[in-house]
Amino acid sequence: MSATPILYEGKAKILYPTTDPDILLTHFKDDATAFNAQKRGNIVGKGEMNCAISSHLFQLLEAQGIATHWIDRPAPNQMRVRAVKILPLEVVVRNIAAGSLCQQTGLALGTILKQPLVEFYYKNDALGDPLLTLDRLLLLELATPEQVEQLRSQALRINRILTDFFQKCGITLVDFKLEFGLDAQQNLLLADEISPDTCRLWNQADADPTARVLDKDRFRHDLGNVEAAYRNVLERVLAQPV
Ligand code: UDP
Repeated sequence: MSATPILYEGKAKILYPTTDPDILLTHFKDDATAFNAQKRGNIVGKGEMNCAISSHLFQLLEAQGIATHWIDRPAPNQMRVRAVKILPLEVVVRNIAAGSLCQQTGLALGTILKQPLVEFYYKNDALGDPLLTLDRLLLLELATPEQVEQLRSQALRINRILTDFFQKCGITLVDFKLEFGLDAQQNLLLADEISPDTCRLWNQADADPTARVLDKDRFRHDLGNVEAAYRNVLERVLAQPV
């Protein structure tokens, strides 16, 4: 018997084809990487937790009129999704200064931004996912000017929906990364995942700058209790209806 063919294996997920060419199966792994895969580890139960959190958030967004690739969750760590061609862009939305924004601008960690900041990074591991200017993005033809505007407005709409949702969970949505893809009809769909791997999430009940962290920064910076933080997010997210 031959093994199921893998379409693509990334750092946190494996994509499998299905009998329907328009549908793919995503398997969420427990593997964790950071700093362009220079740091590697394993977060026990992460695959199931991120699959559950992402599924809940995709359903929330669909209910609010955002087109996503999500279809269903046939197993705890598996998600069926619409097949899309992923744009080679990481769309980052920031509400509060953290991470690379602080490192590259000198803004203090925790500075509340007057308005959300939308940034585009080139999804290219060999180049270290560099921050793009609009002109560089267009030069490389990573998206059309119309798609850039659509990405920006979708990202801001998603930010409003997710910020309100996480607020109800007692969590501050500091920043997050989105990926989008085009289906066979060239519709732009939100793809990938939305989870503590791809968002910065701070517990509002805890002012301590280390204790409040409920996301992958606990793994990146060896803060400990990584699994417990992900489980905390999972429980709070699932407790809120979509
Ligand atoms: N992010 C991500 N994948 C990446 C880079 C960033 O999911 O390859 C997320 C990250 O978790 C954070 C946001 O995007 O929520 C902004 O990340 P930042 O640019 O500050 O980079 P970092 O400090 O994580 O290297």
